[in-house]
Amino acid sequence: MYSIGWECTKCNVCKEVCAVGAITLRDNRYTITESCTGCGECAKACPVGAINETEGNGDMNCEDVLDCLSQYFDGEIESSLSVKIKLHLEKCAYCRIIWNTFKKTIEFIRPYATASRVKVSDDIHSRLIYHLRKNLQES
Ligand code: SF4
Ligand code: SF4
Ligand SMILES: [Zn+2]
Repeated sequence: MYSIGWECTKCNVCKEVCAVGAITLRDNRYTITESCTGCGECAKACPVGAINETEGNGDMNCEDVLDCLSQYFDGEIESSLSVKIKLHLEKCAYCRIIWNTFKKTIEFIRPYATASRVKVSDDIHSRLIYHLRKNLQES
């Protein structure tokens, strides 16, 4: 399996070379879907080297990791998955920026939320991750 990193300039070359249509534009970001056969043609064609095999990133792609970040933060994730997320965050600069900013933001607002007895809910976590991704993609 391959995944697309933060270096992506959205040139569309990978989408054109993929014979099985496994690359799609989702939330304004190029993403490799489950139909990927692992041929590696997109990685060879990408002019900025943004496509890499996910094995070295802990076997998870960015989409999967970002979907789990809220539960990972709350410690509500089984340990084998938690290890994979940790490995991915060590290797993937894109997810690491989102994770670090997410953590800092939640830690910053937590005392104010506690003082005013507002629960920082999963919904707030999800919205925050969504906006961090959006800002990063547009920057
Ligand atoms: S070829 Fe590389 S830079 Fe171009 S859209 Fe695909 S991943 Fe992004
Ligand atoms: S590795 Fe091959 S099948 Fe998978 S997305 Fe890239 S070009 Fe498509
Ligand atoms: Zn990632």
